Amino acid sequence: MPLPERALISRIRSMSASERRTGGAVVAGIGDDCAVLRANAGRDVLVTTDFTLEGVHFRRDWHPAESVGHRCVTRGLSDIAAMGGQPVAVFLSLALPGDLPQRWVDGFMRGILNQSERYGATLAGGDTAESPNGVLADIVVLGAVPRGQAVLRTGARSGDGIYVTGALGGSAAAVVQLRDGRKKPLDPRQYPRHFFPEPRVKLGRILREKKLASAMIDTSDGLSVDLAHICDESGVGAEVEADAIPLARVGRPSHQVDLKLGLHGGEDYELLFTARPNRRIPARIEGVPITRIGCIKRGRKILLVNGEGTRQELLPQGWEHFRK
Ligand SMILES: [Mg+2]
Repeated sequence: MPLPERALISRIRSMSASERRTGGAVVAGIGDDCAVLRANAGRDVLVTTDFTLEGVHFRRDWHPAESVGHRCVTRGLSDIAAMGGQPVAVFLSLALPGDLPQRWVDGFMRGILNQSERYGATLAGGDTAESPNGVLADIVVLGAVPRGQAVLRTGARSGDGIYVTGALGGSAAAVVQLRDGRKKPLDPRQYPRHFFPEPRVKLGRILREKKLASAMIDTSDGLSVDLAHICDESGVGAEVEADAIPLARVGRPSHQVDLKLGLHGGEDYELLFTARPNRRIPARIEGVPITRIGCIKRGRKILLVNGEGTRQELLPQGWEHFRK
């Protein structure tokens, strides 16, 4: 059974190292009616919110508790990264079933807290309640960016190059394995991008500071969907070269994932961005490979070009979660 609310909150407070840290943008965190954040005239505030639902985004028999917490907060941190921002504070509303073991909650909170602190964000508040059915977590991540400098989805223009960080399809490859009805749990070390993804916070900030990215998004829904978001918001089309897409390597011995997963698999939390043709984009930033996968075109269609030069329309395919 999870601890009752007051005991749970005090346990979370004592688990949180950043709770003991003073200064910075979080003036007062957990423990009062509101968190107090210090406003700064030179900066814009970024806010992102995400649901993590048992049975939809994770399964308790498939995902270790720490991985669930890690992935839950990474979704928000990755959104901040996609704006070129710095994470500041995390708020967590958590509904837990009455029969959930407290050690599961501890593992989940460790995942949330370690990952938040790694990226400089403080857990500054939230709420808890009993859930009639499954774990429900609603996470809000606040970030900051110099005033007027957030990298939006609206900035892509015809002629811009399209780039992606890291590799794609690694997270979805784990989902394929998990869905396969396997008996043994999947080894998280063989599928780190699924169980313990890292948001590209520093890389996003560098792209913004050096004014390299004209538009940016994180790959949470899959390349075909996320690129369609940039194109829709910018009012442009695109051409993507199938052979150029960096495909993740997974498993042991490792193998490259199928193109289909690279195109449509979600939850890799890489950055997808566009850059003006005169911008020289380094092959690596902070050790992370950056790959040019195509270019922005006039019109509204997104085309996939294969090795022989054949073009077909690349339609956004929704990312399925764990729902049966
Ligand atoms: Mg996003």
